[in-house]
Amino acid sequence: IKKIGVLTSGGDAPGMNAAIRGVVRAGLSEGLEVYGVYDGYQGLHQNRIQKLDRSSVSDVINRGGTFLGSARFPEFRDEKVRAQAIENLKIHGIDALVVIGGDGSYMGAKKLTEMGYPCIGLPGTIDNDVAGTDYTIGFMTALNTVIDAIDRLRDTSSSHQRISIVEVMGRHCGDLTLMASIAGGCEYIITPETGLHKEQLLAKIKEGIYKGKKHAIVAITELMTDVNQLAKYIETETGRETRATVLGHIQRGGQPTAFDRILASRMGAYAVDLLMQGEGGRCVGVQNEKMVHHDIIDAIENMKRPVRTDLYKVADKLF
Ligand code: ATP
Repeated sequence: IKKIGVLTSGGDAPGMNAAIRGVVRAGLSEGLEVYGVYDGYQGLHQNRIQKLDRSSVSDVINRGGTFLGSARFPEFRDEKVRAQAIENLKIHGIDALVVIGGDGSYMGAKKLTEMGYPCIGLPGTIDNDVAGTDYTIGFMTALNTVIDAIDRLRDTSSSHQRISIVEVMGRHCGDLTLMASIAGGCEYIITPETGLHKEQLLAKIKEGIYKGKKHAIVAITELMTDVNQLAKYIETETGRETRATVLGHIQRGGQPTAFDRILASRMGAYAVDLLMQGEGGRCVGVQNEKMVHHDIIDAIENMKRPVRTDLYKVADKLF
């Protein structure tokens, strides 16, 4: 191969820039030409593709977001739209594409691979919901942002003997909520893995109040329930002021942490290694500290993320 492309897709995540930089710089050092595709699959379909050089990725390793831009582009499910995208890549003579994104973006990469166009997927999402990797790019940075917010809530909840409910991102994956709860010392964790059992939660909160707890922080993953209604329910049942805070998009921004910059750089370079070895249709991960790759189709169709029962047990002991 002589030319490769790179794009970021789906929800942005801190460290995506570092991953693009990794692909570009590693590609150039292998003598490849590297092309950036703007705004994910949408830009690919609209042929918004530009050659990148060393300095295109100067001063981006420390920046959140993605300078290539990202987009949600449901039209990419249409085979004709994807055929046009492949045509655009061929016009530029690009032999393979590195896609940085979450599981939805992997679906797009899988479909292109099935149509005979080789793609490599890098897991870039704060949700940590991608199979075949222990951590996704952006997860650790988001985790630190969530912990910072929880620390602030703790100060004010404690002063007012208030119950705080904090809604954390993660879509259908509870990792961000779970790990933030352990690091932030939350009293109650509700994730898609645990499910929401209102009466049980209420009983635990009441038990805490009885034991003399000054405040309670309940961490819950998004999309599980209306947190304002949950707050009203708890306030009515306990008589304690209860407030819900939805952290929202602040979780997606900010400077990537050292962990994410290093992970992204390693993954970017590894993607180029795989392409140089003639591999396509793979997705990159880190497992037990080692770079690994899996079949992208298998990863989407068959592989499941392990539920961190070990961490739930730790959390249970410490509350
Ligand atoms: P995050 O989880 O951080 O939001 P994501 O990559 O999962 O990231 P999605 O919006 O689910 O985000 O997917 C990104 C894009 O991937 C979609 O907008 C679409 O262009 C493409 N995509 C998703 N699913 C498919 C599919 N089944 N076929 C083709 N393309 C798809």
